[in-house]
Amino acid sequence: MPTKGLIMIHTGAGKGKTTAALGTAFRALGYGWKILVVQFIKGSWHYGELDSAKKFGDQFQILPMGEGFTWDTKNPERDRQKAQEAWEFGVKEALTGNYQMIIFDEINYVIRYNYLEVAKVVAFLTTKPPALHVFLTGRDADEQLIEIADLVTEMREIKHPFKKGIKAQKGIEF
Ligand code: ATP
Ligand code: MG
Repeated sequence: MPTKGLIMIHTGAGKGKTTAALGTAFRALGYGWKILVVQFIKGSWHYGELDSAKKFGDQFQILPMGEGFTWDTKNPERDRQKAQEAWEFGVKEALTGNYQMIIFDEINYVIRYNYLEVAKVVAFLTTKPPALHVFLTGRDADEQLIEIADLVTEMREIKHPFKKGIKAQKGIEF
């Protein structure tokens, strides 16, 4: 049976959306797959996974596309431009057929804040290479994306150390 490339969404307010996608990538890397991660949001800290990915060489590429694009934006027009570029880059790479999996990290957030049109994402997902697996992560996933996805998981916060005033820690949060 040919591979059925899945459309997978991790959404919700609880922790684990990005890391569960990276965990799946880690599993797939064991089979020699090539994987691309397009990060739409660049946090103010350095993420450990950027260095982990380097250990896999060409097999695992993580591209933080939103250069200067942070959670607390000061220049929405520039952020919009960066989001469009990140999206177009991801699509172009997807169509090369070089990758078995693509993770669009925090894409739900950029769609929610109108930095990227959901119609573009729907158009890609409905015409993508059939064997390509795609992850879309981030809070507030768009209904249209949920509709066409094969897998949708909502991370629900029951407890988070942040609420107790425990700051983000290396290896867990970044
Ligand atoms: P992770 O990358 O740890 O899997 P995530 O992708 O689910 O988290 P994001 O919405 O991308 O979460 O949040 C980015 C950062 O905020 C991460 O460092 C994450 O640990 C932290 N975070 C996630 N959920 C919560 C929460 N409910 N309260 C406070 N901080 C959170
Ligand atoms: Mg995340």
